[in-house]
Amino acid sequence: MPRYQAPRGTRDLLPEERARLSRLEATAADLARRYGYPQIDTPLFEQTEVFERGVGAVTDIVEKELFRVSGGSGGEEERWALRPEATAGIVRAYIQHGMQTLAQPVRLSLVGEMFRYDRPQAGRYRQFRQWDVEAIGDAGPAIDAEILELAYRFYSDVGVMGVEAHLNSIGDRACRPAYVERLVDYFGKRESQLPGLERHRLRSNPLRLLDSKDPAMAGLIAAAPRITDHLCDACREHFDGLQAHLSALGLTFRLEPTLVRGLDYYTRTVFEFYVEGQHGQQDAVGSGGRYDGLVELLGGRPTPAIGFALGLDRVLLALADAGSTSTDARHPTAVVVGANPSDTATRLTVATQLRAAGLFVRAELASRKLSRQLEGAAREGSHFAIIVGDEFESGQVQLKDLQAGTQRLVNVADLARELERAEGSHRHGPAAGG
Ligand code: AMP
Repeated sequence: MPRYQAPRGTRDLLPEERARLSRLEATAADLARRYGYPQIDTPLFEQTEVFERGVGAVTDIVEKELFRVSGGSGGEEERWALRPEATAGIVRAYIQHGMQTLAQPVRLSLVGEMFRYDRPQAGRYRQFRQWDVEAIGDAGPAIDAEILELAYRFYSDVGVMGVEAHLNSIGDRACRPAYVERLVDYFGKRESQLPGLERHRLRSNPLRLLDSKDPAMAGLIAAAPRITDHLCDACREHFDGLQAHLSALGLTFRLEPTLVRGLDYYTRTVFEFYVEGQHGQQDAVGSGGRYDGLVELLGGRPTPAIGFALGLDRVLLALADAGSTSTDARHPTAVVVGANPSDTATRLTVATQLRAAGLFVRAELASRKLSRQLEGAAREGSHFAIIVGDEFESGQVQLKDLQAGTQRLVNVADLARELERAEGSHRHGPAAGG
C-alpha cells in the first residue's frame, strides 16, 4: 500500500477517464453555446454566508457537508467554504456585477468542481464535477421547459439512454407555508412513529421529511398530504404551463408529488433526473429547479430564476454501467525513431516541427536500439514510424507504415503533408483533448 493516497472521497482521473470527462465537458460547452448560456467561472470558495443563506442553514449541505476553509495562519476574520454547488456563487456574481441591468433573463453556465464533506460511497464523492446551467430573470414556465429540454439533450448527446425527469411543484411563498403547516400537523400526530432524525426535521425543515430515504418513512410519506393538491392558483397555472410546454416538446416526465429537493431556496418547479432502472437518491444524475427567492435572499432585487446541476461523475458512472467506455485516448500518428540511438536532438527536432504543423507525433527519446524503438512505437499503436537514418543528411527519412508494414523514402519537407494525407480524418487538433 503506497504511503500517500488521494484523500477519501476524492479520486484521480487517469487519462482515460479524464478523456471521457473532457468529452462530457465539450458536449456541455457546445450545447451551452447553441442554447445561448455562456460560461461563467466563480471562485471555488466563497464567504460561508453565501452558502448559509443561499443554500439554507438547515440543509445537510450546510449543516454537515461544508468544507470550511481558514485563511493562512488563521488570523483571517472571514469565514470561507469550498463551494458545495454553483448556484449560490453564480447568483452572488449576478448581483455583484449588476447583471440585473442587462436584458433578462441572464443565461449562464458553469462546469466545475464542487465539494461536500459527505460520507463517501459509490457515486457520492467529496470532490465532484457538475455542469450547472442557470437562467436568471424569467418567471417561466416556458424557460423551465427550455432548461429541462437542455438537460435531456445533454444526456442523449453524451449517450446516457433512458433518462427520466421526476417533476414536482413545491409552491411558493403564497401557498407553501399553509401546506407545510398541514404537513407538520400530519407528521406531528404521528411523531411517535418517526425515526430520530426525522423528528429533528419536523422542527427544522419539515418539507424535507418527504425527502427521507428511511424505509420506516415510506408508508407515512405515501399517505401524507400532497403539495400539488394545495398549490395556489398562480403556482397551479405555472405547473400546468410547464407540463404543456414539455408535452409540446415531446418530452416525457414523471410527476413525483413527494419530490422536494434538499435545498431550501427552491420554489415551484423542482426536478431530478434518473436513469431508468436505477433507484435511490445517490443515483440522481442531475437535478434542479426554480429559485425565485434566492436573488433577493442574497441582497439583490426580487428576481425569478431557474437552473440545473448535472453530476458529471454520475454521468460517467451511468455510461460505464451501460458498457459505454469508449475513450478519446489517442494513439500518436507517428513516432520519430532513429538509427543512431544517441541522436535524440534530431528526433526531437523532427517531432517538434510536425507538432507545430498540428500533428500528434512523439519522439523516441530513450537511447536504445532502433529495433527496440520500433517495437515501442508499434506497442503505442502509432500508425507510422519516421526513421531518421543516413538519408537525413540529404533531407529525407524513411516513413514506415507500422500497420501495413510498408516503408518508403520521404522528403522531410513533405512529411507533414504526407502524414496528414495518410491519416485523413485522424487529425489531432488542439480542441480534440485527451
Ligand atoms: P444537488 O445539488 O445535491 O441536487 O446535486 C446536483 C447533482 O450533482 C446530483 O443530481 C448529482 O448528480 C450530483 N451530485 C451531488 N452530490 C454529489 C456527490 N457527493 N458526488 C457526486 N455527484 C454528486
